[in-house]
Amino acid sequence: MGLTLTEKILQHAVKNENLTRGSRIGLYADQTLSHDLNVIMTYLALENMGLEKKKVPEAFQYVDHNMIQADFKNADDHRYIQGMAEKLGITLAKSGSGICHFMHLEHYAKPGKVLIGGDSHVPACGGVGSFGLGVGGFDNALAIAGEPVYISMPKIVRVTLTGELQPFVSAKNVVLELLRRVGVKGGVGKVFEYSGEGVLTLNVSERATITNMGTETGATSSLFPSDEETLKWLKAFGREEDYVPLSADVDARYDEDIYIDLTVLEPLIALPSLPDKVVRVREVEGTPIDQVMIGSCTNTSAQDLLQVAKILEGMDVASSVELGIYPSSRTVIRELLKSPAYRSLVTAGARIFEPSCGGCNGCGFAPATGAISLRTTPRNFPGRSGTKNDQVYLTAPETAAASALRGVITDPRDLGKKPAVYTLPERFDDHQKDYLHFPGNPQAQIIKGSNITPIPEFGTLPDTVSLPVVLKTGDDITTDIICPAGALYLPIRSNIPEISKVSFHLVDPTFHDRAKALQGSILVTGANYGQGSSREQAAIIPRYLGIQAILAKSFARLHLANLVNWGVLPLIFQKDQDYEAILPQDVLQIENTGELQEGQLVLVRNLTQGTAFFVNLPLFQEDIDALKHGGTVNAVKYKLQA
Ligand code: SF4
Repeated sequence: MGLTLTEKILQHAVKNENLTRGSRIGLYADQTLSHDLNVIMTYLALENMGLEKKKVPEAFQYVDHNMIQADFKNADDHRYIQGMAEKLGITLAKSGSGICHFMHLEHYAKPGKVLIGGDSHVPACGGVGSFGLGVGGFDNALAIAGEPVYISMPKIVRVTLTGELQPFVSAKNVVLELLRRVGVKGGVGKVFEYSGEGVLTLNVSERATITNMGTETGATSSLFPSDEETLKWLKAFGREEDYVPLSADVDARYDEDIYIDLTVLEPLIALPSLPDKVVRVREVEGTPIDQVMIGSCTNTSAQDLLQVAKILEGMDVASSVELGIYPSSRTVIRELLKSPAYRSLVTAGARIFEPSCGGCNGCGFAPATGAISLRTTPRNFPGRSGTKNDQVYLTAPETAAASALRGVITDPRDLGKKPAVYTLPERFDDHQKDYLHFPGNPQAQIIKGSNITPIPEFGTLPDTVSLPVVLKTGDDITTDIICPAGALYLPIRSNIPEISKVSFHLVDPTFHDRAKALQGSILVTGANYGQGSSREQAAIIPRYLGIQAILAKSFARLHLANLVNWGVLPLIFQKDQDYEAILPQDVLQIENTGELQEGQLVLVRNLTQGTAFFVNLPLFQEDIDALKHGGTVNAVKYKLQA
């Protein structure tokens, strides 16, 4: 039996483990990726562990999320980050050089390697055939320290692409089509592996658009083969020595098959406020818009922006619309400056921001109250733009540009223009000035600003959990809801007591005060709890506020791992009616947590209603044992102190 591409890559990253689907595997990273927003917890954890130098072969630090220096907080965080990078020997991209996932794709991602990083869109590197795994800050710390990160071996789905994209239908529409078909939960526990003749028609930045936004399906990762296009990309960045050809064996075993004919795809758009509410642009054409944001790690390669510039060329952005553009990297800006493209963008009336996440995480280009914003970002969860009750549509750069010109949602094919013809340059300009390469320095000065508070200490799980339900929610609670994005909140992510005050504000503004007053409670929620980002603050905050167990219909993979790390017991309803029957404030009891075993059913008593029901424990024994210590963070600390 042949191997899938995923199996071929993962077999070098595990030690003496077989890759049976569903089994627990420990992955050793070849590379790690960190960004400024999530890395503070990572570095605090590494300081706690006493790590003097990185143990992973290659480690990279980007500074792209928290760029607004309106006061000392972000600037202090950046200084701490630089100190830790210097100490540990981590390559640092200078602040504002670009969005981590795209910069990594340009300069460091390698076919066949495993990249583990503290962000959910790490699978962008699958565009060059590198297996990317997004993890929380503590797992990222483990990876940097050379320790394995444990996941359940995913199922592998073959996505066969046929045909060729038509003019003005770019790669973003491929992943929107995937989301339309499988939804935001359809990729949970799976890797999407792309194959078929259609793959050959897509270059690396187009492939990375697809693998990046594959995250929105809940997938563990997404992967393209490494082929002639990969070699062209690596050569263009002067690193052809990183090339290895890689593809699945013809007789590889896949768990599912999906077929997408690129030729028949049309411009697509996701409606507010979930990435899988995808319809054809034709169905919402003419909807007035107020704002357009072109940017994020999913789009705004040089190719994307050349296409946008071509559409805007010689025309003006509609007077009712503000258009903001965040290029992916300085490399992209340097490339645009070589052609009339940059001039076209500026002349048309676009605001051009520094290369960073910026508007994507609500840190720079929030829409006005009640305004409709059209974005090329990967996600549109409520409030993510920075404005409560926002109305964010997600689409491809071509649709975004055409709509900016007309002031209404517009199919770009209707403008009657010719698309730009893009050819990858033989060689991009040198990028080394964008990085600082630190060999490691135990004497590096580490300065921690007052905004960085120590990691909270948590105790062990009590043998009997008998607590009231502090909050009951519906499905699809995102990490943005638990720990909000936006310029007001990002700078206080390093300060758990402060950020916890706005937790769940979109669902129940009284949550923080009630949970804190209870000093111990249980949360009940629907399907796909914790979808969205890797931010572990979304696990730490509930724990900090006294939540000891979360009963859900299902959990997002990354968030489930974060809950285990921080000592929150996750349980899954067997029957919807058990979820329905629970009322807020009911007191639930779980006994004998010290004896929990992998695969067992756990009895939950509803003391208020005098009923009882069984729930599933979605964990391997090692995770259960860690939970008994109060989470993996505690378990690792005890191990290191022993
Ligand atoms: Fe940055 Fe947005 Fe990409 Fe996250 S999804 S890495 S916030 S650009």
